[in-house]
Amino acid sequence: MNNLEPQINLLIPLYNEEEVFDKLIERLSKVMEASPLSIKVIMIDDGSLDNTAELMRKVSLQDDRFTSIFLSRNFGHQIALTAGLDYVDATEAVMILDGDLQDPPELIEDFYPYLKKGYDVIYAVRKKRKESFFKIIAYKVFYKVLKRISKLEIPVDSGDFSLISRRVVNDMIRMREESRFLRGMRNWVGYKQIGVEYEREERQEGDSKYTIRKLLSLALNGIFNFSEYPIKFISNLGILTVTVSLVYLIYTLIKKIFFGVVPEGFTGTIIVIILFGGVQLISIGILGEYILRIFFQVKNRPLYLVKSHIKNKEEHGSAIL
Ligand code: UDP
Ligand code: MG
Repeated sequence: MNNLEPQINLLIPLYNEEEVFDKLIERLSKVMEASPLSIKVIMIDDGSLDNTAELMRKVSLQDDRFTSIFLSRNFGHQIALTAGLDYVDATEAVMILDGDLQDPPELIEDFYPYLKKGYDVIYAVRKKRKESFFKIIAYKVFYKVLKRISKLEIPVDSGDFSLISRRVVNDMIRMREESRFLRGMRNWVGYKQIGVEYEREERQEGDSKYTIRKLLSLALNGIFNFSEYPIKFISNLGILTVTVSLVYLIYTLIKKIFFGVVPEGFTGTIIVIILFGGVQLISIGILGEYILRIFFQVKNRPLYLVKSHIKNKEEHGSAIL
């Protein structure tokens, strides 16, 4: 291989993936050797605590088809991918995939023809999910809700696994929002997009690195970054409650003035107070979600910090891993 820019980059974030690493490199090497395309891999170490960084380092120092970027700590999957996008040197397209081999790298050959047909985004759609019942339901509900309340068109069974054209990469690099939901941003750019079905494999080694908390935070980013619905919901709730109270007020006044009945009912009053206390706290919470995002955005910090990187077998930046 030469040092020229490749046609395709494979972008792979890795967090504590030492168990699957050798298998990954083997599969990727096979794909690169078999492919008529010139492909190079960009791996991003998302602050792994195990031996992943050291393994990446060894491969990248020996083989110029593998570029490695080492982040200064764990920034999370979405930011790790963002870092990777910033380092893209491919001329034609970038394929984003997970490091646990759940997304078969061989699919580049299936996706690439669509690029030639004029599609800018080719995203993978899972035929069926090999996951727990609870997770499947949660995903379904989330994407249904997101579709209703945002203008995004993200099919239920698609994730970040996709092939995106160089110009979409450039567009996404320009979006420096702090709380990131890449599959939403990828949909937002427009152009011609298409979903291609595939069989998602089981994680090859190790356990999922996406905790429920990380998953929930990703879901909230999807909602609060792409929808104004929650805010509108508060206003509508306000209008509804004011209307209901006005009707009730008139009813009570009429009762009092014309019939001399003074309303009693301690329990009812307490319930109403607690109910509206709750409604107000939730409303403040929703506002808070937006304010929090503004707060982090105006700080304008870099999205990630890079400790060092290895490209074309050369190490740049601090080598201490
Ligand atoms: N990952 C990451 N940073 C994190 C969590 C995960 O870079 O904080 C990587 C992980 O190494 C893998 C990909 O993101 O390559 C997807 O993670 P995982 O397979 O654990 O998620 P799942 O498939 O269970 O949704
Ligand atoms: Mg996985």
